[in-house]
Amino acid sequence: MTLLTKSKYLVGLQCPKYFWVSLHEEDRIPEPDLSTQHKFDQGHIVGQLAKGLFPDGIDIPEADFKKNIAKSKEFVKLGKPLFEAAFMVGNLYSRADILVPAGSKWDIIEVKSGTKVKDVNIQDVSFQKHVYSLAGLNIRKCFLMHVNNEFVKSGEIDPKKFFTKEDITEEVNEAIVGIEERINNLLNVMKSETCPDVKISKDCSDPYDCPLEDDCWGFLPSASIFDLYRGGQKCFKLLEEGILALKDIPHEYKLTDKQGIQHKCEKTGKVHVDKEKLKKFLEGIQKPVYYLDFETFRTAIPILDGTKPYQQIPFQFSLHIDGKHFEFLANDNSDPREKFLVELRTVLGSSGSIIVYNQSFEISRLKELADAYPDYKKWVSEVIDRVVDLWFPFKNFYYYNSEQHGSASIKDVLPAITEKDYSKLKIADGDTAALSYLSMIYADGEDVRKDLLKYCKLDTEAMVWIVKELGKIVK
Ligand code: SF4
Repeated sequence: MTLLTKSKYLVGLQCPKYFWVSLHEEDRIPEPDLSTQHKFDQGHIVGQLAKGLFPDGIDIPEADFKKNIAKSKEFVKLGKPLFEAAFMVGNLYSRADILVPAGSKWDIIEVKSGTKVKDVNIQDVSFQKHVYSLAGLNIRKCFLMHVNNEFVKSGEIDPKKFFTKEDITEEVNEAIVGIEERINNLLNVMKSETCPDVKISKDCSDPYDCPLEDDCWGFLPSASIFDLYRGGQKCFKLLEEGILALKDIPHEYKLTDKQGIQHKCEKTGKVHVDKEKLKKFLEGIQKPVYYLDFETFRTAIPILDGTKPYQQIPFQFSLHIDGKHFEFLANDNSDPREKFLVELRTVLGSSGSIIVYNQSFEISRLKELADAYPDYKKWVSEVIDRVVDLWFPFKNFYYYNSEQHGSASIKDVLPAITEKDYSKLKIADGDTAALSYLSMIYADGEDVRKDLLKYCKLDTEAMVWIVKELGKIVK
């Protein structure tokens, strides 16, 4: 018998097509990527930590769902907190993170690794409450226990301080209205032999990125309306009107200035350059010119004392200056932050521009480091004053090349403006770099270390090449 679980219910609410494929043609769903898997793993670790709040709780995480149901039925009589207790009614199946007895009733506690209550969490708990109620449990209240983003680690993690418990009973009761009809609709989709025809929409990435996007969005041309810079609803309106290619947008259609530049570049095949503004930007760069990039990791449960959940911890930098390259990569599981600062101060001279790409990231990390190590405050503030953001001319479309596909990210700008790209690297993005670092320090991988060094080095090398090309363009 195919079951409607709470995760499938949420998939069904997002999209009936995704729901049907997940039940009938599961092979079409790609394996989660590294970063998605990391989120799942973080959720699991946080869930385990929450169990520590109920020392007399009974854990029922049986892999065999029938055994889990049987044990849950048995343990529910004991009137103790239950972890991962499962109940099934007809085709409906739900497993609770934590069920806590409240007199003759029960409270549902859903544990999440996020830092706030989201709509999808309310839908999740509403399905649980519905199933447990049908199974005969009298539910008193519903809670969402999420990560307290103000928590600061000091020694062993105290789950009482780490979590924030919010009463979501009212919201769940509102969300439960009409649930039977929604469930029946999904059960009909489940029974159907044909996949529902669903058009692409903003739901494809809300609340989660649908893994079938490559399938469903594949009909779009390579330079599509969805490349429009900050296109939002406009893209879906164009789609409704049958316009798919960026170049086919009618001339009279209302576009923003930046979108207008994209449209023109696509139609003419020419590169857009605002020489005056580009020149002014380049003239603002002071010699000697430093090119700097940071890599960071973050975890739901902080690893280091003095840090918060999901705080970005810098572990690596790359610096190019006058043809020379300097780099730092922490190599053990001790706190890398002070070593990072010491090394950075050694190689970053006292004058000249410091070019970064998307300055808010590097500046925020520098400020956090200064807060953690106040001796560096003055120096950090001087460093910040020297920062120049190479993202600026691209996000403001001083230069635009249709090869960028509406993006001002360095990963898209580099191949558009030079012949080079990131494709040959084993580590080619920040998320993978962070996860690779964590795996390196815990699994001691020399190959990973080399790949991390190559990746971060390319981030600053890319800026050197881009500035060089811009210099040629404005001549
Ligand atoms: S990509 Fe969009 S339309 Fe396709 S299955 Fe996913 S949510 Fe549905």
